[in-house]
Amino acid sequence: KADGRGVHRFYRPEMLADAQGRKRLEDDLRIALQHDQMHVCYQPVVSAETARIVGFEALVRWEHPKRGPVSPADFIPIAEECGLIEAIGERVLRAATRDAAGWPEDVRVAVNVSPIQFANPALPVLVANALASAGLAPSRLELEITESVFLTDSAQSDRMFAALKGLGVRLALDDFGTGYSSLGYLRSAPFDKIKVDQSFVRGAAMPGGRNAAIIQAIVTLATALGMETTAEGVEIQDEIELVRRLGCSHIQGYVYGRPMLGAQAAEALAANQGRASPVGHKVSRAPRSRM
Ligand code: C2E
Ligand code: MG
Ligand code: MG
Ligand code: MG
Repeated sequence: KADGRGVHRFYRPEMLADAQGRKRLEDDLRIALQHDQMHVCYQPVVSAETARIVGFEALVRWEHPKRGPVSPADFIPIAEECGLIEAIGERVLRAATRDAAGWPEDVRVAVNVSPIQFANPALPVLVANALASAGLAPSRLELEITESVFLTDSAQSDRMFAALKGLGVRLALDDFGTGYSSLGYLRSAPFDKIKVDQSFVRGAAMPGGRNAAIIQAIVTLATALGMETTAEGVEIQDEIELVRRLGCSHIQGYVYGRPMLGAQAAEALAANQGRASPVGHKVSRAPRSRM
């Protein structure tokens, strides 16, 4: 990615361009699941008010033995097409709930849920089982859902929302403002939080743009509906100050931490809570969170 600001070390498969390449990636994905090539990383989410870590978002990582890291932006859509997303999603959920059970009780974990998973009536049972076997309180799990889930049958999505809320988990609307945004969704869907997409945050602190006004409007709406707001993709100090001023309740982005291994997340929490964490102590060779 010629982004300039963030360093992207992901392999971008040019092979995705043709059908044969996609098939190869699909085959590789199946192998990846069988051979433990995937793990979960955690990116801190901080309170805008106190800058303390209040949670982490679980983000799947795939280390291809030959190509190196492949971006989820590239392989998740393929996994969704070929039916592998359910297996990946379940493993992420199990790894994330298990890791979160080792964190302080006021720290949550957020897990992304694909629209394919959301359309499967078995999802609530799967979530309940993961929580039970990890021993994690449901209120400590937040499921991130994108607007695309509303493209499916609305009676069915209403039932799913009710079933998930019935478990006691939290729901967040991810990447808000980028999809087929309809305010009608916010009328009935029981979201606890709206995540303001990073495309609105990027450059919002520069003069003359319209992003700040859009963030402001989203925050006003969310707050009036009793929902929290996370500003995603915050990279610089000016953006922290801006989204705080605009009233976002939470902040997530490289400025507070990139996605990190489970052991590093635990370290960051220890430092965050003012407990022992020797300065400069690195856990870069820490084991991955197996999934
Ligand atoms: P997302 O759920 O919106 O996750 C946030 C993405 O923004 C992550 O990219 C994260 O690394 C990136 N990010 C966070 N802070 C910054 C920042 O300050 N600057 C920039 N430039 N980027 C930032 P990642 O990990 O590559 O994931 C991309 C997308 O792939 C996710 O977007 C999500 O839609 C999907 N994804 C990742 N893990 C999973 C998973 O376990 N299940 C499902 N279904 N989707 C996943
Ligand atoms: Mg997300
Ligand atoms: Mg997002
Ligand atoms: Mg996204």
